[in-house]
Amino acid sequence: MKSTLTLAVVSLISGMSLASAQQESIEAAPANVLRRHHLTIAANPQMGYTNQTVDTIIAKMNKILQRSDFAWDVACPNVEFVRNGNVISNANIPLRATYEQFVQALRDNVPSANVVVGSLITSCGGVLAAGCAPVPGEPMAVIHDGPRSAVVWVHERGHSSGLDHVAQGKDASTAREDEWGQIMFWNPSLKSLGALTAGCAAYRNSRLSSVISAPMPAAAPTGDAPPDTAVEAAPVSFGLTEKVLKVVEGTWVEHTPVDQFDELTQEDLDSIRNHLKSGQPNYLWRQLLLIIGYRGNGEPDAELLDNDPPPLKWSGLRYGSRELKKDGSDVEEETQA
Ligand SMILES: [Zn+2]
Repeated sequence: MKSTLTLAVVSLISGMSLASAQQESIEAAPANVLRRHHLTIAANPQMGYTNQTVDTIIAKMNKILQRSDFAWDVACPNVEFVRNGNVISNANIPLRATYEQFVQALRDNVPSANVVVGSLITSCGGVLAAGCAPVPGEPMAVIHDGPRSAVVWVHERGHSSGLDHVAQGKDASTAREDEWGQIMFWNPSLKSLGALTAGCAAYRNSRLSSVISAPMPAAAPTGDAPPDTAVEAAPVSFGLTEKVLKVVEGTWVEHTPVDQFDELTQEDLDSIRNHLKSGQPNYLWRQLLLIIGYRGNGEPDAELLDNDPPPLKWSGLRYGSRELKKDGSDVEEETQA
């Protein structure tokens, strides 16, 4: 809830008028019109992001939104995400920065971009984040989150289109399927693929300048596509305990669940240590490093936290995580260097 409030403030800073944006979005686009979200992506070259990387993410974003994944959600076939031009590599874009610093770097170096990809967003309204965007407004900042990137991108694009969170603060284990299954669930996972009619309408009726109308193609995509195993990736345990897997199931998109870190046992923590010793980084490492940084035992664990090869560069997490407040609401200035 804190991040939602702060994100609204961010949208004011970025010059977006909340009132006019919401008023304009009430006009619905005609049904025979395709609404295309043109995404112009910029990143530091060390991120290694190519057109192909982005096209894979965007293809998954389109599948997530355009098809129905649950009994209660709607297909949203007349909204499409497209890559606008080549991915822009610019060495002046930081790898690790606050949302505000990413925005400034875009303004100074790549003003045309409305998506910036980094390795870590050290502050989105004061919290470590996997994604960050104004409600509504642009640009959005995202980190590389492996197979979950598409979920994070669609979620942030939802904020950009004016959507707020679903079931804010509710634990995924107590939330209903029509809550955790929504793209806008506050802590989305690989299973958060659904949208309701109002959600679809927000993407569709967005008045962001990057959303442009086009004629619907003759063979429009439908919700009948076969199941996509790439989106619904089979869970891999990586030797982690059930309890750890539960904690890292969500993307922690705009929050850090330190209360859950406190509930982990030594056995849970050892499963993380063993996995980090494997030296085979994957998309969960950001979260695992953060947990060990918060719950770890100083010297022996500090060595583990440095086992963080490029281009991931998540080791900076340890500085911030040790300073995390109990409610996960703050990170020391040190992480923003
Ligand atoms: Zn969010």
